[in-house]
Amino acid sequence: MGRSSSLTRTRLSSIFRAEADPLRKGSRALIEQKTGFRRAIMAWYRRERRELSWRGVLDPYVVWLTEIMLQQTRVEQGTPYIERFLALFPSVEALAAADIDRVLKAWEGLGYYSRARNLHKAAKVIVGERNGQFPDTAPEWRTLPGVGRYTAGAVASIAFGRNEPVVDGNVKRVLARLTNLRASIDDTKVAEELWVLAGVLVQGKAPGDFNQALMELGAQICLPRNARCGGCPTRKYCAASALGVQDKLPKRRPKKTVPHHEVVIAAIKKNGRYLLGKRPADGMLGGLWEFPGGKVKTGEADAAALRREVKEELGIAVEVGDFVATVNHAYSHFKVTLRIYRCTHIQGKAVPNAHSELKWVLPRDFERYAFPTANHKFLKLLV
Ligand code: SF4
Repeated sequence: MGRSSSLTRTRLSSIFRAEADPLRKGSRALIEQKTGFRRAIMAWYRRERRELSWRGVLDPYVVWLTEIMLQQTRVEQGTPYIERFLALFPSVEALAAADIDRVLKAWEGLGYYSRARNLHKAAKVIVGERNGQFPDTAPEWRTLPGVGRYTAGAVASIAFGRNEPVVDGNVKRVLARLTNLRASIDDTKVAEELWVLAGVLVQGKAPGDFNQALMELGAQICLPRNARCGGCPTRKYCAASALGVQDKLPKRRPKKTVPHHEVVIAAIKKNGRYLLGKRPADGMLGGLWEFPGGKVKTGEADAAALRREVKEELGIAVEVGDFVATVNHAYSHFKVTLRIYRCTHIQGKAVPNAHSELKWVLPRDFERYAFPTANHKFLKLLV
C-alpha cells in the first residue's frame, strides 16, 4: 500500500507540473479539499443511495458478478439478471461446474456475451487453480479472464477494503465536471489522469463506499444531461457548476458514423423443425444459437443472397419462400436490418461451415437455447 501511494505521488507531481493546464489546476484544487469533499459525498451516499438487492453484500463472488453484469448495462435492467443468475449459480463452485450453454442461457438478452464466457472461465480458474480462494488484491484480480482495471478496483475496494480507485463512465463525467476538465475524456492520457485523481481521492476509510458514492452521484445527480446541481452534495467543490458549464462537460471525441448492414436470415424448415447454428465460441455472440444467414451484397436480391449464404454456411440448397418480418437492431459498433424468410430445404446434408454445431429444433424447444436479442425479435413469429 505504502509503495503504491508513493508511486501515485510521483505520477501526480509529474502530471501537475504544468500550471497552465486547467485539468491539473482543477484536480489540484479538488485534492486540496479532499477531506471535505469525501465527507460530503459519503454522507450523501449513506443517506440517499438506491437500495438494491446486491448492495451492501460484501461476498466477493456477488461483488464480482455484479460488477461484470452491470458493465454497459443500466442498474434497472441488470438487477433482475443478477438475481436470476445468483439463484441458478449461487457460488463460484456452482458456476465453475455449470455447462457454458446454461451460463449463456442465463445471460441471454444482456449482450456482450464474452463477459459470460470469461466469467465462467475465471470461475474455473478460481476453483481449479486457487482452491476456491478469491484473489484479494486488484493486481491479482486482473490476472483472471475478463477482469480489467475497473472490475479489479471495484472488487478489491468493495469486497476487500483496498484503497483502489474505479473509473467508469459515471466517474469520468463527475470528475471532469468537478475539475472543469476541458480536454476530451476519450484521450488516453486524460483518462489516465482521471485514474490518478480517483486514486488520490479514494485513499481513506471505506474505499468501497467512496467508489460507489462517486458512481451513484453520476447515476442520480450528475446526469449526462441536465445535471441536478441544485441538489448536489458536492456542489461546493465543483468547478464546472461554479462557472455554469456543467452541461458542456465532459468533452468527448466526435463519434464515428456507425456502419449499417442489410442481412437476410433463413428460417429453414424440415419435418416441423428449424435449422439452427451455434456460433463459434470465440468472437461476437460466441456460443449463442442463431438462424443462418448473412449480409446482402450491393445490388443483390434477397433471395439470391439467401441461397448464396445458405450454400456457403451450410452446403445445402434451399427454396426461398414467404417473407416473415423485418427486424432492426443496434450493436455497439454497427446496426443491422434483418429480413427473415421462410425457406425449404431441397438438397444436400447441412454441414457446419460457419458454426461449431448445427441442430434441427422443434419450435417448442426454442426456449432451451440462448439466442441473440435480434433473433428473439422474430422467434415468436415462427412459433
Ligand atoms: S455540482 Fe453539478 S456538475 Fe458539479 S458534480 Fe454536482 S451535479 Fe455534477
